[in-house]
This record gives sequence, structure tokens and C-alpha cells, in this order.
Amino acid sequence: MHTKSPHRQSDSPKEECGIFGVFGVEKAAGHVHRGLFALQHRGQEGCGIVVSDGAHVRSHKGQGLVSEVFSDPTVLPEDWNRGIGHVRYSTTGSTRIHNVQPLVVECVDGIWALAHNGNLTNADKLRRMYQDAGAIFQTSTDSEVLVHILADPMYRRRPQRVARALAELRGAFAFLIMTKDCVMAARDPHGFRPLSIGRLGDGYVFASETCAMAQTGAEYLRDVEPGELVMVDETGLHSSMFADPPAHRAHCVFEMVYFARPDSVVFGDNVHEIRMQYGACLAKEHPVEGDIVIPVPDSGNSAALGYSRESGIPFDFGFIRNHYIGRTFIMPEAEQRSAGVDLKLAVLPQVVDGKRVIVVDDSIVRGTTVQRRVAWLRSAGAKEVHVRISCPPVAHPCFYGIDFPTREELIAGGQSVEEIREFIGADTLGYLSEEGLLSPFENASDYCKACFSGEYPLSVEGLGDKNRHESLNPELPFNR
Ligand code: SF4
Repeated sequence: MHTKSPHRQSDSPKEECGIFGVFGVEKAAGHVHRGLFALQHRGQEGCGIVVSDGAHVRSHKGQGLVSEVFSDPTVLPEDWNRGIGHVRYSTTGSTRIHNVQPLVVECVDGIWALAHNGNLTNADKLRRMYQDAGAIFQTSTDSEVLVHILADPMYRRRPQRVARALAELRGAFAFLIMTKDCVMAARDPHGFRPLSIGRLGDGYVFASETCAMAQTGAEYLRDVEPGELVMVDETGLHSSMFADPPAHRAHCVFEMVYFARPDSVVFGDNVHEIRMQYGACLAKEHPVEGDIVIPVPDSGNSAALGYSRESGIPFDFGFIRNHYIGRTFIMPEAEQRSAGVDLKLAVLPQVVDGKRVIVVDDSIVRGTTVQRRVAWLRSAGAKEVHVRISCPPVAHPCFYGIDFPTREELIAGGQSVEEIREFIGADTLGYLSEEGLLSPFENASDYCKACFSGEYPLSVEGLGDKNRHESLNPELPFNR
């Protein structure tokens, strides 16, 4: 979650992350390693892997990229057959090593490991209640509340313990949970975050994005359904529902706009194709005379190609990206973000000099980055700079796991499109409409677009308290 709302604390755990797991797959550590490589774009601050052979559990995690944390390939047993992994992004202040996942805890009935993508909107409330009851938390992540519910005797001694525990959570979550005996995967009832199931040999694979399956040679089977708990053990795959999905799902449309990799299938659609459609739609909604269409690489590539094909204006590369630096949007510190932008892109004067340039980007958050890029294009000789954005103005914070700043910091939170155009110094500025954003989807009402519209699919105000009181298990210690 990414707003200074009452939910937000200085060491807030709100994040966008990637998770990957396998069961019944030889050399599990290597496969999870490769899966995390493919998911690196979802988080670059820290990562970890936990593996098991059915009797023992080993874990390794650290801060940095997958290639840095796992520079020694023998750090984990190579031939064990089950494991889960996590790549992490976090907001300012929560980059400490103890927050890096998977979380590994020893309960009275054995070791549990847990990896989470999303944001639990009732985590603060649950944490306070367990702390009041004497629990000690070891991290500042929202994910840890699930550990405490699982360890609670009133859940531990009951059948369907994990399903009951998951039903207590609110907000956005895709979880992988591993014990020595099994790997489990679950998605929140709204299905905010993606999570897929694949087959690899005789075993199973779980991944935030299907690109990670391709990387490991796994075959995509299907998505974990919203409200579904999937468990894989020695007897096979077992599915159950821990909550009834609401009338409409709330798939995060920003996964399509920015976060997911173009070669992934997310919520049933290929990300590249959807972005191409966004670009084509943008060309229809905001046509302009120009000489070339250039993307802000990499997330603007597909939309720029779509714009070029629809408009008939040639596509070219006016920016060259340095691939050896992380995506600035997912670097937590303001200074890192700023420094990253300076190092990330270079302009090709040979391409833009003397041209009317249409530059396609995925989104505008604060506005300072695109302002700088427009200035670069002009100083490289661009005659005109027309900015096209493949989503509507981001005017509201996200409470479900994407790190947008506060509404005050979002440039579209308080300024009109014309004011933004003036601020960034473009000749024209055009955003994709909300209709255009949802036009590729058969069931548009199954997508969350709250950061554009302000219509939150889960109530934001008093969310945790309100929902918690509705669903409280009267047998929890603090409720008895
Ligand atoms: S508010 Fe925006 S970023 Fe957050 S889940 Fe909804 S669509 Fe995604």
C-alpha cells in the first residue's frame, strides 16, 4: 500500500513482488533460481529461496538481485525436490534483511515457509490484536500476520486450518506456503495479483507470471482461481475454495500497463498484445501529425508499436536503455530513483534531430521523469515532442500492492491534463481513456482501475477494522 493513510507506517511492508515455487521437481533449487531470474522485474531489493527434501528445510536469502544473492550456486542443496522463492520490492524504510522472504518459522508442528505478493489491508489490525495477546513479530511485513494465524491454537487444531487462516485476510494476496510435506498456493477472492500453475515433468510449478514457467521449461496449466487454495503433495494436486469470490473480480489492470513482462500471460491475456491494443487505441483517441513514434523502453515498447501501426507513422528507437540498471519505478529511495533515471536512458540524436517525435510511455506518476525526457529530446534536436501515455492519469494511490506515492505527490492527483502538459514541456499530451484501458477485455468489470478512477473494489476507509469485525473468528484468543 502506498499512501500515507492511517494504514501506512514508516516501515511499511507494502510491496509488489514475485513468487515462484515447485513440488515434485528434481533439482528444485535450480528451478526456483531460474524462476526468480525471470521475475526479477517484479522486485530487485531482495530475494530468497527455501527448499526441502521432505525431511529437512534449508533457506538462503539476502538483499540485492537474484544473481548477487545466489552467486554461489551450491548455497542450497541442489537435488531436493520442493521449494519456494520470492523477489521483493518494498517502500522506504522496509528494506531490512529480516523482511526479505520467504519467511521461515518453526511452529509446534514443524517448519513453515511463506512467500507473499500483494498487500493485506487488515494486517495492521491483525498485528495489533496478536501483539496485544502476547505475540512477538520478527518482521515488519504484512505477510507475517498469516504466520501468527496459522500458529494460533484455535486454527492449528482444526481441519482446513490454512483455508480458515486465509479467510481471515483482506486485501490483495498471492501466497505460496511450504511445509516439509507440501506446497500450497492461494489467491485472494478478488484475484488482484496473478498466480499461475504449471506442470514440469511429474511435478508442479507456481509462478506470479507465466514468463517464469517458460524459463524453467514448465507447461502452463491454468491460473490459481480467486479464492482458491491449491495444495500439491505426494498424492497429487488438491483444490479447495477458502472464500466465495465476489460478483466481480478485481484483477489489477496496472499489471497489464506496466508491471508484467510482455511475454507473460496474465489474467488470461498476453501482456504484449494488450499493450499493442492500448497503443492502437491511443492513436485513435489522440492522433497527431508526426515523423516518428518512439517508445520509452522497455515498458512503452509494445504500446508504441501499436501506436505506430495504427497511425502509419514509422516506429523507431529514440531512447536506448541501459539494461544493467534496475527499473527506476521499483527502486525505493528517492535518491536512487533520481540517480537511476539519469543513468537509465540515452537519447539518439541521429533518430530525433529535426523530427516531430511522438513518444509513448506507460504512465506518469510524479511527472518529473517525463519532464526530463522531453527536455532531452528537445536538446537532441526534436522539432516537436508529443507525449502519449498508454493508461489514464494515475490520480489515486493503490491500496492493493503497487507503490504509488500519495495523491498529493501524484501529478494527476491535483492537476489537469493541460497543466501536466505544461509542466512536462510537451507540445501535446494524450492519455488513454478508461474505456480504452478496459476495451481489450471481455469482462471489463473484472478489473481494478482504482488508481485511475478512485473507485476502490474494497472499501479503503476503515477497511481492516470494518471487514475484520464482520469476519472475526470468535475463537481467536483476543476475541474470546
Ligand atoms: S489501484 Fe491500480 S495499481 Fe492498485 S490494484 Fe487497482 S489497478 Fe492495480
